[in-house]
Amino acid sequence: MSIKENLSNIKQTIPDAVTLVAVSKTKPMSFIQETYDEGQRVFGENRVQEMTEKWANLPKDIEWHMIGHLQRNKVKYMAEYVSLVHGVDSPRLLAEINKQAEKHNRVISCLLQVHIAEEDTKFGFNEKELLELVNNEEFKAYNNVKIEGLMGMATFTDNMDQVRREFSGLKMLFTKLKSNYADFTTLSMGMSGDYKIAIEEGSTMVRIGSSIFGSRN
Ligand SMILES: *Cc1c(COP(=O)(O)O)cnc(C)c1O
Repeated sequence: MSIKENLSNIKQTIPDAVTLVAVSKTKPMSFIQETYDEGQRVFGENRVQEMTEKWANLPKDIEWHMIGHLQRNKVKYMAEYVSLVHGVDSPRLLAEINKQAEKHNRVISCLLQVHIAEEDTKFGFNEKELLELVNNEEFKAYNNVKIEGLMGMATFTDNMDQVRREFSGLKMLFTKLKSNYADFTTLSMGMSGDYKIAIEEGSTMVRIGSSIFGSRN
């Protein structure tokens, strides 16, 4: 099937209220252009250098989302243009994003990554760390970042009951925080293999790569 058909099939399974992030990491710019021509405007990348190269060469109304683990020393290269950083997983990273955004007179939207999977290879805060962060006075004083919600990745497993439990736990945490923080609007959860479950459990943003662009090496 073509990218165009893949995109159209995926879109038919996603409610209008859920944002589709087309994850184009490792894929050539021609693939992005093809989906752009079909109306897709939100793309996700996990390497700053690759994303910046694509940003420089593709239409300027694309929204670029950084979805991968981010090193602090890379933030400066994308601070000028990045639309949403999904994987904020430490207070120091948040501080750096705030600092670099200030240099460009921007407010960068961020999601806090929550560790919901059983593997310890996946990054993110636990609930206690998360509550400490959002209640921290220093963090509240940041003017150049806006925390819009949470992001999580479920365990890589065939056990869909487990995946559902992990997503539902994240949704509960999101709801809890949302009642105190008006800016909380986005819950980023769900990839090609599990996005339907994620949507059933309350996702507002799904990150889909291989089901649109084909598998990666
Ligand atoms: C690569 C990646 C995705 C997309 O994965 P697919 O299985 O190809 O849909 C989603 N989220 C993150 C954080 C990723 O790194």
